[in-house]
Amino acid sequence: MTDSRAAQTDGAHLLVDALKLNGVRTIYGLVGIPVTDVARIAQASGVRFLGFRHESSAGHAAAAAGFLTGRPGVCLTASGPGFLNGLAALANATTNCFPMIQIAGSSGRRIVDLQRGDYEELDQLAVARQLAKAAYRVDCAQDIGLAVARAIRTAASGRPGGVYLDVPAAVLGEVVDAAAGAASLRTVVDPAPRVSPGSDAVERALTLLSEADKPLIVLGKGAAYAQADAEIRDFVETTGIPFLPMSMAKGLLPDDHPQSVAAARSLAMREADVVMLVGARLNWLLGHGEAPQWNPEARFVQVEIDPTELDSNQTISAPLVGDIGSVFEALNRHPSTPDIAAPAQWRQALAAKVAANTAKMAERLAEERHPMGFHGALRAVRDVLAEHPDIRLVNEGANTLDLTRNVIGMQHPRHRLDSGTWGVMGIGLGYAIAAAVETGGPVLAIEGDSAFGFSAMEMETICRYRLPATVLVFNNGGIYRGDGVNTQSADPAPTSLLQSTRYDRMAESFGATGFLVRTPSELALALKQAIAAGGPALIDCLIDPTDGTESGHLSNLNPVGIGAPLTQGIR
Ligand code: ADP
Ligand code: MG
Repeated sequence: MTDSRAAQTDGAHLLVDALKLNGVRTIYGLVGIPVTDVARIAQASGVRFLGFRHESSAGHAAAAAGFLTGRPGVCLTASGPGFLNGLAALANATTNCFPMIQIAGSSGRRIVDLQRGDYEELDQLAVARQLAKAAYRVDCAQDIGLAVARAIRTAASGRPGGVYLDVPAAVLGEVVDAAAGAASLRTVVDPAPRVSPGSDAVERALTLLSEADKPLIVLGKGAAYAQADAEIRDFVETTGIPFLPMSMAKGLLPDDHPQSVAAARSLAMREADVVMLVGARLNWLLGHGEAPQWNPEARFVQVEIDPTELDSNQTISAPLVGDIGSVFEALNRHPSTPDIAAPAQWRQALAAKVAANTAKMAERLAEERHPMGFHGALRAVRDVLAEHPDIRLVNEGANTLDLTRNVIGMQHPRHRLDSGTWGVMGIGLGYAIAAAVETGGPVLAIEGDSAFGFSAMEMETICRYRLPATVLVFNNGGIYRGDGVNTQSADPAPTSLLQSTRYDRMAESFGATGFLVRTPSELALALKQAIAAGGPALIDCLIDPTDGTESGHLSNLNPVGIGAPLTQGIR
């Protein structure tokens, strides 16, 4: 290399240097024109690149990394179709308020903008703008440092979300003076600055809570994301207010905590008179805060980083705008907080309901049926996981999602990742990969057989990187149930899948350990062995095709209501 070449660099190197300078240690992606060398350069400079089989899995992995670490996860995709595949994950990350950056290569602006038919021609920036928190394009190598800084700041600050960064091929290949390039890079100082509520807002909220006969705290995934675990727990335990965890907030306080009313959810929502929402939106997952699910007289306190979320469904009587850590610090420091004591009568009523519902669930879990049903399988999983509270759980499906969420208790914060706000299918193996990579710890993905199919090929990715992940497929041969019948033609029902599929053998072909199990005791044994071995494993768990409910717990959302399977055809 000559001296003059040594003094030059290019856009691809600057992009990697800019990410590295801002603490990015891992890029999740899938290479192709024009980003393949970006991945090579990343590896050469000590940034880990994890290559996936589909861009949406890479994007979901980046989003999960964002949720787990509080720093934007980075996904790298090729142009056109690769970009589009990743975009589903970027939109999902934005919906879930996870910080993530999708960086995509793109084709030549001159050709694309006049629609002259370039390789993978697409106006990616215009498309992404609709679906991301923000979308930026960098048009010259000198601006790469600025663009990366802007993407990080936007993804992480305020309400976190997905940011799209468009990097045309010409910019990646643009040669610039190395010293000037290095000088153009920048480090983002404090990407998500803390925001404290005003003291009047703190007073108002505490006054409202002190007036309550039936106070309730709802913990959402924003509360898990905030990494303010000790402050939240302090407030909950000092006040004695019962709490309800949303699915990804499970484990923020342990599910067996005496103040948890997860098992008395309906009663708590129907009767609470002052409800404190903590990093949880009053969206469809909480019935928009409406009667009859909620007490129509209920008043709401909301702890929220984004003020425009307030009043989106119900009047928020006491807004606490700020980051959850700062808000709870202010609440815990306030002299009147220790005087808030949740009334004993309310606590006892909820405790009685929790005990009754837990007993009912115990009966269901004890059921012995052949073939095995969801509850028998989950009993086995629950008993094994009781010995391994450190395992991170990924969960998607319909019945598999609803029932696992209810049966499997979590002990630690941010140990449960699931379909989230959209109820999206396809996050499974991407989330599992990120959980293993970002934490170095073991992961169990509990997947419906349909849900698994969306990212099944990432089993090869898990094996290629030798990740400590076990995938458990609840194989009931269908979407919702496996006994759907089409009475109109010889084609299978829309909900049908082949239960005969040997998912364990598919995984074995990639080098994972495969198990096929038919009973709870076989499942328990396989799961123990898989966890002990610590390497990639897949358990194909046969479930009775007649077990399960159409649309899981959401059958009310089906607009037509033809309803489930069976032989009668259309009612
Ligand atoms: P869930 O589905 O678990 O109820 P949501 O995704 O509906 O949770 O709500 C999460 C909320 O948390 C969002 O409104 C988001 O703006 C908010 N949020 C995210 N991070 C923070 C934070 N650090 N401090 C305060 N609020 C936050
Ligand atoms: Mg199924």
